[in-house]
Amino acid sequence: MTAATQVLPGATLGVMGGGQLGRMFVHAAQAMGYATAVLEADASSPAGQASQHHVLAAYTDEQGLAQLAALSAAITTEFENVPAQALQTLAAQRFVAPAAAAVAVCQDRAAEKAHFQRCGVPCAPYAVIESAEQLAAVTDELLPGILKTARLGYDGKGQARVANRTELAAAWAAMKHAPCVLEQMLPLHREISVVLARGADGACVQLPVQQNLHRDGILAVTQVPAPEVPAALQQQAMECAQAVAASLDYVGVLCVEFFVLADGRLVANEMAPRPHNSGHYSIDACDLSQFELQVRTLCGLPLSTPRLHSPAVMLNLLGDLWFDAAGAQREPAWAEVLALPGVHLHLYGKAEPRRARKMGHLTVTAATADEARRVALQASAVLGLAPF
Ligand code: ATP
Ligand code: MG
Repeated sequence: MTAATQVLPGATLGVMGGGQLGRMFVHAAQAMGYATAVLEADASSPAGQASQHHVLAAYTDEQGLAQLAALSAAITTEFENVPAQALQTLAAQRFVAPAAAAVAVCQDRAAEKAHFQRCGVPCAPYAVIESAEQLAAVTDELLPGILKTARLGYDGKGQARVANRTELAAAWAAMKHAPCVLEQMLPLHREISVVLARGADGACVQLPVQQNLHRDGILAVTQVPAPEVPAALQQQAMECAQAVAASLDYVGVLCVEFFVLADGRLVANEMAPRPHNSGHYSIDACDLSQFELQVRTLCGLPLSTPRLHSPAVMLNLLGDLWFDAAGAQREPAWAEVLALPGVHLHLYGKAEPRRARKMGHLTVTAATADEARRVALQASAVLGLAPF
């Protein structure tokens, strides 16, 4: 269904998925006077814990979907791998944003790259590998490269770095010959991202450009304002992201991740049809967060451009922090880190810490970018995170 009318506070908003992004959506919706319903099979999920209603069901469960639709005035997703079919089923009854078709493009790296190219947005040279013939036809310029499964990858999972054809063939076999894309390994200088929100009327606003540091394929640090990215390049990234959203007729919050190459060129990496880890700082450092924007786009409410009121550094808190050097479990030194000025701690309510698992994040806000960085480095030292 299309968003014919505004959905006003007091209504119930549905969300597909129970992870931390859903949890922060629930917090924002509830702060604005909405109730929430989460569909998630895990009984102790981060979003389920916070939501008034929790439909305990798999994404493909017809009864669960019917229950979510019955509870909700409008429905969004926090997880890009929700089956597009499930979103279509929901959309027959309720307004769903983002739409199944847009989510489907983001679910498949090959479709995503084809979409970037259609929009005139540069991406890494790549080849689709779905058959032995395509594997054999890979050109030398793509090696060394990164082989990525076309679907279901996240946080660097489903990826292998390959130096030559032998490694490429072995990596593809290890991925059980799943459909993949092979990307040329690019000389990354910086990584940045753009989070935008687009309404059903086409109005589009965005957060300031984020500068991101990844470790082992996982986001580790986000800095805003981006300290080392020229304004013209930031402008280019924002225009690319808007073009990508407009040509999908996108409604909702969208993140586009970019590489800045050593020679200064901008290359789109991937996109996510939802709020993004690199936009979490907006909760504490902007007058409008990415989750409030998600609520507004879903409800057909006006958007206004978020204003960064404090420079910010966000540190991701992975499960590794819950283990000491000997591998024994411990609790990170929260009291010590909270003694630092401008520290905002967000933990997602996950019971079991595991290595590389996103357990929470911490945002440092300060009067100046230098001060935010200085305190974030102190927080890193307290927690045992590497400096940046
Ligand atoms: P996410 O958690 O963002 O969904 P993902 O698993 O989908 O991550 P990518 O964003 O494709 O993975 O890659 C993870 C990281 O690996 C990138 O942020 C970048 O640091 C590095 N990387 C990916 N592709 C390339 C490339 N073509 N050349 C160089 N480095 C790359
Ligand atoms: Mg990524």
